[in-house]
Amino acid sequence: MRVDPYRQSVVDLEKTFKTNGKTGLTEQEARAQIKECGPNELPEGHRDTWLSIFIRQFKSPLIYVLLISAVIIFLVAPQKLDAFIITGILLFNAIIGTVQEGRTSNIVASLRHFITTKSVVVRDGKHHIIDDKDLVPGDLIILKEGERVPADARVIEVERLKIDESMLTGESKPVHKTADAIDHPAAITDQNNMVFRGTYIVAGSGRAIVVATGQQTEVGKLHQTIEGIDTDIPLKRELTRLSYFILIFIFVICLLLLGIGLLTGRPLQELLVMLTALFICVIPEGLPVVLTLVLVTGAYRMARKQVLIKNLQGVEALGRTDVVVIDKTGTLTRNEMGVTTLFADGEEYDVTGEGYFIKGELLADGKKVSVEDNTPLSQIGLAAALLNTAELSHNKKTNLFDIKGDPTEAALYVLAQKMGYTQDELYKKYVEQYEIPFDSNLKYHAGFYKHDSKGVAFMIGAAEALFSKAASVPISFKEALAQLLDDGLRTVVVGMKEFDPQAIVIRGSEQEQYEAYQRLIADGITIVGLCGIQDSIRPEVPEIVRQARDAGLHVVMATGDHKKTALYVAKKVGIFREGDEVVDDERLHTMDDKELLSQLDKITVFARVSPQDKVRIIDAFHKQGDIVAMTGDGINDVPSLLAADLGIAMGQIGTEVAKQASDLVLLDDSFVNVIHAIEQGRHIFYTLRRVILYFFSTNMGEILIVLFALFTNLPLPLTAAQILWLNFVTDGFLDIGLSMEPQEPDLLSATWLQKKERLVDWQLMAKSLYMAIPMGISSLIVFKWAYTGMPESLDYARTMTLITMAMLQWFNAWNCRSETKSIFTLGLLANRWFLVATSFVLFLQFAISYIPILQYIFKTVPLSASDWGIIVAMSAPMVLIEEVRKLVVNRFLKKEEAQKA
Ligand code: ADP
Ligand code: MG
Repeated sequence: MRVDPYRQSVVDLEKTFKTNGKTGLTEQEARAQIKECGPNELPEGHRDTWLSIFIRQFKSPLIYVLLISAVIIFLVAPQKLDAFIITGILLFNAIIGTVQEGRTSNIVASLRHFITTKSVVVRDGKHHIIDDKDLVPGDLIILKEGERVPADARVIEVERLKIDESMLTGESKPVHKTADAIDHPAAITDQNNMVFRGTYIVAGSGRAIVVATGQQTEVGKLHQTIEGIDTDIPLKRELTRLSYFILIFIFVICLLLLGIGLLTGRPLQELLVMLTALFICVIPEGLPVVLTLVLVTGAYRMARKQVLIKNLQGVEALGRTDVVVIDKTGTLTRNEMGVTTLFADGEEYDVTGEGYFIKGELLADGKKVSVEDNTPLSQIGLAAALLNTAELSHNKKTNLFDIKGDPTEAALYVLAQKMGYTQDELYKKYVEQYEIPFDSNLKYHAGFYKHDSKGVAFMIGAAEALFSKAASVPISFKEALAQLLDDGLRTVVVGMKEFDPQAIVIRGSEQEQYEAYQRLIADGITIVGLCGIQDSIRPEVPEIVRQARDAGLHVVMATGDHKKTALYVAKKVGIFREGDEVVDDERLHTMDDKELLSQLDKITVFARVSPQDKVRIIDAFHKQGDIVAMTGDGINDVPSLLAADLGIAMGQIGTEVAKQASDLVLLDDSFVNVIHAIEQGRHIFYTLRRVILYFFSTNMGEILIVLFALFTNLPLPLTAAQILWLNFVTDGFLDIGLSMEPQEPDLLSATWLQKKERLVDWQLMAKSLYMAIPMGISSLIVFKWAYTGMPESLDYARTMTLITMAMLQWFNAWNCRSETKSIFTLGLLANRWFLVATSFVLFLQFAISYIPILQYIFKTVPLSASDWGIIVAMSAPMVLIEEVRKLVVNRFLKKEEAQKA
C-alpha cells in the first residue's frame, strides 16, 4: 500500500512521484503523465439536462398556486375544456421557461471558461508559468503569497507559509505549514506539510510537489465543482419576494372582485373560473427567469469585452457607480515596467532595451559601461537579482510576457540580467537567512544573506522608507531623486547594510523574528543607488477619463507611488486638472474626517497611501452617499476591494486572493474597460426596468378591465381561456423582444447619475398605472359597444375585447422600449428581435380569430375588416398617450435644466 505523501520524507516522495525536488519533472515526463492522469480540472458541475430544467419549472411555489388553480377550474368549470387549456398553457409556459433557463445556464457555463488561472512550475530545472489545468502529479510548484493552491501538494520548502483553508475545512484562521514529514496518521486539518487545491496562500512562500490533481484532490473528492459565477443575486431574491407580495395583493383583489361580482349578481361558477384565470395570469412566474437571462446575457457581453463579472449583483452596482478609485498607476499604464535610469556613485546611467526582453545595456554619456565587482553599481545588480520573487515567462504565441508577482520586481529582475547577474548563481554565494517581503505599509523589501561568513542585508524600496534609515544621504541622491520624479518615473532606492551573522541569532515567534530583522536595518544603512522605472501610459486612457467625467463619474487615483510620480501620470491622463487637490499620506493623516469630507470632491490624487488609508478614503465617499468602485491587485488591497461597493481586480497581474475578493475582474487589466463596463451596467439596468414596466402595466390592465366590467354591471368581458391566451401571447414573446432592445446611445451622460433610480420604485408603479388605465377603459368601451345585450353577441364582443386587449399590450410593448425617448427617435426597426416578436404576436391574433380549432377552443368568431379598424382605432392611441407623456416630461426636464444652467 502506498504511504500517504504527508508521511513520506522528501527523498521517498521523489521516488514515489519519480520527480526531483530541485529540478522538477522533465517536460517529457510531464507530457506522459498528463496523458495518464488527465488534466488538472474538476468536472464542470453537472449540467442540468433539458428534462430536469423542464421539471424544475414546476417546482416553484408560484406554479403550485397555478396548479391548484387549474384543479379549481377543473372542478367548477362548466366545460372541462378550460381546465385542459390551463394545463396546456402551463406546459407551454414551462417550455418557454426551460428554453430561457437553458440559455441562461449555457451562458453561465461559457462564462466559466473566462476564468483560467496559472501557476509557476519547475520543469527541467527551469521556471515556467503554465495553466493550472496542465499540472500533473510530480510537478514541482512554487507557492507565492496571494495565489491559490492549484492542486494537492506536499510542501518541501517553506518560508513562513500561511494558508487559508477555510474553503476546505471551515477553519477561518490561517494555518502554518512546514516541510517536515509527519510520522503518524493525521486528518487533513493536521497535515501541516500539505497544501490543498483551492486554498489560498495568505503569507509567505514555498515549494511543493504535486501529489494529486483534478478529481483526485481533496476538493475533487468532495464532489465540488469548479468555482463558477455567482448567479444567486440579491436582485433575484428581491424579485421573488416582490412576486410573493404581488401574489398576495392579487389574491386579495381577486377576493374583492369575487365579492363585488357576487353582490352584482354574477353566477358564482363563472366568476370563480374567470378570477382564477386572472389570478393565474398576473402571477409573475416568468419574471425572475427573464430578468436573470437579461443579467447573464449582459455579463456575457462584458466578458467578451474582457470584463468578467463574478458576481451578477455587481452589474447593478456597476450602473450606479459614482466614484472610481484607481488604486495604482498600473491600471492606467501598460504595466510593462522597465528600469530606464540608474543613479549610483554620483553618476547617471541609461538602461536600454524594450519591455521585459532581456536585451539591453548600461550607458553612461552614451558609452557602454561594464559592471565591476564591489562597486555601488554592482550592488544594485546584486540587490535587484536577489530581492526578486516575480516570475516572468515569454509567451511565444503572443510574444508577450506572462508575469507572476510584482511588475516592479519583474523590472528589477530584467535589469539584473542586463547587468549580468542571475539569481541561481548568486543564491549559491549568498545564502538567504531571512526575507522581509515587500509590503505596501513598510514600502520596502529586504533580504538578509550570509556571504563569505559575513552578513549582508539588501533592501529596495520607496525613497522615504530607506532614506530615513540611512545615517546620511548625500545631496546628490536627493537631487537625482528629484530629477527622476520630475521625469515622471517610478523610483526605488537600493540600500545595504553589513551585519555580524554570529551576533544575531534570532529566535522566538515568527512575529518576533520579523520585528527583530526590521530593527536590524532600522538605522545605519548605506544608500547605494537609485532606479528610475518607466511604464508607458496606455494611449486610450486620456479619452476614456474624459468620457468618465462626462458620465458624471468622479475618477480618483489612490496610489502607493510618490506624489510626483502619481501627479505626473494623473496629469497626463487628465485625472488631475488645474484646481484639483493632491493629498499625500502625511497630509491625509493630519486631516480629520470632517476636513477630508469637505475636500473630497476636489481631491483627485491620493499619493503614498497605505491599504488602510484606501479603506478610509472609500469610507469617506460612502459617508457622502456615493457608490464606489475600486481597483486592486494585491493581497493588501483585499480590505479596500471588500469595502468598495464594487471591487475590481486585475486579471493579469492581480493575485488570486484579490480576484476572489472582488466582484469584477478586468481580464486585460485596462482601466478603459471599467468605463465600458459601467456603460453596460447602465444598459442592463434599463433593460431590466423596461421588462418590469411592461410586465406591471399589462397585468394591471388586465385586472382593471375585469374590475370595470364588474362595476358597470356587464357580463365578464373575457373568458378564463381567453385571459390565459392573452397572458401567454403577450408575456412569453414581447418581454423577450423588449429585453433585446439595443443600448441607448447616451448612457454615459451625467444626467443618468443625477436621477439615481431604483429598479422598482413608485415612479415605475405610477407609470404602470398610467398605462393600465387607458387599457382598461378602451377595452371596456369596445366590449360595451360590441355587446348588445343579446346572448348571441357575447362571443363576438369577447373576441373584440380579447383582440383589442392584445393589441393594447402590443402597443404598450412599443411604449416600454424606452421610458423617456419617443419610439420614433428610437427607430421603429432598431430592435430586430422585437420586430420578430411583434410580428409573431400579430400573427397569433389573426390565428385566434380565423383558425377554426382555435375558434372552437377560445370561443372566438371571425372578425370583419371594419372590426379590425375599430380595434386599431381603440388601441393605437395607447402610443399617443405615452408619447405625449414622454414629450411633456422631456419638456419639463429641459426647462428645469435650462433654469439650472
Ligand atoms: P502602488 O501599488 O500604488 O504602485 P506600492 O505600495 O506598490 O504602490 O508602491 C509604493 C512604492 O514602494 C513605490 O513607489 C516603490 O517605490 C516601492 N515599491 C513598490 N513595489 C516594490 C517592490 N516590489 N520592491 C521594492 N520597492 C517597491
Ligand atoms: Mg504595488
